[in-house]
Amino acid sequence: MTVAKEHQINILSNTSSENESDLSISLALLKRQLNQSGIDDFEQVAHILYKHKQLQIQADFYSQDKFTLEGSHSEAQLVCPSTGKITDCIIWCINHYTGLNRSQKVIDRVCETVQKFGTGSGTSAISGGMSSLHKEAERRLASLVGKESALLFPTGYTTNLGVISSLPGINDFLLFDREAHASIIDGVKLSGRKFASFNHNSVDDLERKLKKYRGNYKNIFVIVESAYSMSGDVAPLKEIVELKNKYNFYLYVDEAHTFGFYGEKGAGYCNELGVTSEVDFIMSTLSKSTASIGGFIACKSKYLPMIEWSANSFLFQACLTPGDVTAILASLDELAEHPELIAELHQKNRYMREKLTQVGFDLGESQSPIIPLFIPDPDTLINFNRDLYTQGVFSIAIVYPIVKPSEGRIRFILNASHSYQSIDKTVNILSSLGTKYGII
Ligand code: PMP
Repeated sequence: MTVAKEHQINILSNTSSENESDLSISLALLKRQLNQSGIDDFEQVAHILYKHKQLQIQADFYSQDKFTLEGSHSEAQLVCPSTGKITDCIIWCINHYTGLNRSQKVIDRVCETVQKFGTGSGTSAISGGMSSLHKEAERRLASLVGKESALLFPTGYTTNLGVISSLPGINDFLLFDREAHASIIDGVKLSGRKFASFNHNSVDDLERKLKKYRGNYKNIFVIVESAYSMSGDVAPLKEIVELKNKYNFYLYVDEAHTFGFYGEKGAGYCNELGVTSEVDFIMSTLSKSTASIGGFIACKSKYLPMIEWSANSFLFQACLTPGDVTAILASLDELAEHPELIAELHQKNRYMREKLTQVGFDLGESQSPIIPLFIPDPDTLINFNRDLYTQGVFSIAIVYPIVKPSEGRIRFILNASHSYQSIDKTVNILSSLGTKYGII
């Protein structure tokens, strides 16, 4: 009998499960297993999932419900909604790499803008929602990453969704890295075109797929990320560009986890490797190093009308607010004026990696400021994470569907605002928990 089936019987017969291996299963995996076991009654599935979440919360196995009392920061007061308890925590799951969300200059400029421009933008870009600030941001972003033009979207997710779904024509094919973000995969599926994935960061597998498909399609779009959010490793962009010269495809790079802190003035990883001109589409979110929200696509000007008039998430979605755009512009100014911010982030990344390696953790192929600790056993992962939180160190357990069920992990995302003291404290706690759970 599967865990899901047993668990379903426990829940339906009101036997609250004390078995941790039942409780450590993620909600998405439980739903999949219930469906696979033929349990398809909507109300019953909803009830089991609702009860499972409650049991996880009671056991303090559900890190995802915690929230900060006063917004994102590298150290914050965290609220546990089920107990009402507030805990001072070092926070490791926020992507504000540069820490600029707490820059007084950025905050002051946003306040001034809101006084002058008001709050919402009220409509989409093509129906009058754009302001002079939006236009300035598009110009600045294009020029920073080295492309003719850029188009702003309300989020990074909807940038990928809209742009990727709008590019390929009926005789085209899409190829993407197997670890690509959900927004890329959803964009590919939404395009309605044929597609395949290639093994993560494998130039050989990409070439195999190109050999297989190149002759059958008019155009091929290859979509990769510059750094991967779940593993912290970077893409072999130079080698991919060599393949591009051999097989002739369009190359799309999502710079969500490199824009703002790689390359000149934070121009990104394509800039750092000197491959900008060979990359056709450079995308990034603006919710991470630029401390706001939004996303952009940068490319040749001639590609824009195709996107503007086929990407529903551009056509039919309201624009960023003027305040959001100001946070982006002010962050770009800070990054240009204070290169030491970026240097500090990389320095702290090296420091933390060295310390973790010294105490015996295997950091895999990661090298960007995302440090994953791989804990494949779901029970161990969930207990490890609960112990971390109890000691004032907080991150989220990464489980299915974010990664495969056997690939669970906890990520430590460095922000320039993390202090060396916080890093030392975190490494010490990780070291004792690593020993307790037999990981190191
Ligand atoms: N692309 C990648 C690679 C991401 O990691 C993310 C978000 N984590 C997105 C796109 C979506 O960005 P946003 O959350 O800002 O919408």
